[in-house]
Amino acid sequence: MNKLLNYINGKLVSPLSDNWLENVNPATGQVINLIPDSNKEDIHLAVEAAKSAFPTWSKTPASERSKLMLKLAELMEEDIENLALEESLDSGKPLHVAKTIDIPRAIANIRFFATAILHTQSESHAMDNIAINYTLRQPIGVAACISPWNLPLYLFTWKIAPALAAGNTVVAKPSEVTPMTATRFASLCIKAGFPNGVLNIVQGLGAKVGASLISHDDISAISFTGGTKTGESIASVAAPKFKKLSLELGGKNATLVFADCEFENTVNETVRAAFSNQGQICLCGSRLLIERSIYLKFKEAFLKEVKEITVGNPLNSGSRMGAVVSEAHMNKILSYIEIAKQEGGTILSGGSRLFPQGNENGFFIEPTVIEGLGPACRINQEEIFGPVVSLIPFDSDEEAVEIANGTDYGLAFSVWTSNVKRAHRLSADLKAGIVWVNCWMLRDLRTPFGGVKNSGVGREGGWEALKFFTEAKNVCIKL
Ligand code: NAD
Repeated sequence: MNKLLNYINGKLVSPLSDNWLENVNPATGQVINLIPDSNKEDIHLAVEAAKSAFPTWSKTPASERSKLMLKLAELMEEDIENLALEESLDSGKPLHVAKTIDIPRAIANIRFFATAILHTQSESHAMDNIAINYTLRQPIGVAACISPWNLPLYLFTWKIAPALAAGNTVVAKPSEVTPMTATRFASLCIKAGFPNGVLNIVQGLGAKVGASLISHDDISAISFTGGTKTGESIASVAAPKFKKLSLELGGKNATLVFADCEFENTVNETVRAAFSNQGQICLCGSRLLIERSIYLKFKEAFLKEVKEITVGNPLNSGSRMGAVVSEAHMNKILSYIEIAKQEGGTILSGGSRLFPQGNENGFFIEPTVIEGLGPACRINQEEIFGPVVSLIPFDSDEEAVEIANGTDYGLAFSVWTSNVKRAHRLSADLKAGIVWVNCWMLRDLRTPFGGVKNSGVGREGGWEALKFFTEAKNVCIKL
């Protein structure tokens, strides 16, 4: 069986222990390859390599780092078919989605930071006739970049690109659930001519290899995207060691639909917000708040559109939804649907596992719509991270904001209205890192990205990411 390898000090290598884990295609339930079951010895080698590469890489002119990264982006573009296929086989997402959204965005991440680093500025503060201060923005050292399975290469590159562009060296750990594109990415880095040790990729279990990485004394910064519980455990290890920390965590996002919305467009886009990537995006709108005066009409139109979603083999161009990422995750989602029933919810659509013809052993779930649950129910409070949306009516702007803000999370909300005053007022009042008005997941890579409350600490994107991956040093020169 094909074995994926670690990328350490410029070479593709087996784990020192020679232990391997099985990687399953969620659309078929079949093992497709083996991945390194790495441990702290592999992490040690990777961190050592990154540490040795740091002095030269951090002093390499930004224009040279940029050139290498642009070369890498070009190679990714040439290899887009393979990258997309691997992403689909690994995660269960439709191939056409991987090819038109995930991989192009991963390439855009590399290009964006490769060029952003050529346009950065630092500050200067003059003290009249006394002194002049200027701020040096210097790379931190070896950064740990840990990413989840839902948007594998997309989120992997979202961290690696600013870290490398800013002059850091990196040890990265992709999710053990979706290891394939990171391995292909390593081969492309070699082809692009990346110096040894600048980027290292260690595969394996989070609790083992991830935990060894974040606790390593030579790691200066940790950029993590994943579950809130994992983030909590990483923070508890990193904080006493004073490592710089960026945490992008879970969400329980609200979609606020008002009676004056553009009806048809809102129906289309809120369905997309609920079920894109099988509902496995931290930004998905899993609580759909609808103004009571249009509740019945909106519900009907929403359900009609949901019933048209085709779920099936991710390799078929006609599948709008593919498999969820693993059997364990499927069971978690199904158990939440059971909780919804126990809490007194009504399943309006879906609610079950699907067995598409030819993919009977895959992990598929129908797009599921629930109503009749109050804002405090578990379904409306806990992150399910699957194709499940709960409908909640509201009577006023104040009530909508109260419900939206009434969870422990605060990542991304969307507001659907034609009233510009309401749009501004609610955008200010919603406790979230991101508010979309009359759109969802419209992304400009220059904007700050992240959440509040249990959805995370810190911001990624644009200048925020470059700030995270550099340390500001003030130099004060007396005149
Ligand atoms: P996860 O927390 O289980 O794993 C994320 C990564 O952390 C994986 O690479 C995993 O191997 C690693 N990991 C696990 N335990 C670790 C430990 N103790 N120390 C170090 N690393 C460890 O999350 P997941 O199930 O892969 O992803 C789903 C979650 O990610 C959801 O909660 C989702 O909301 C969140 N997410 C957030 C964002 C965001 O930008 N806020 C984006 C995507 C996904």
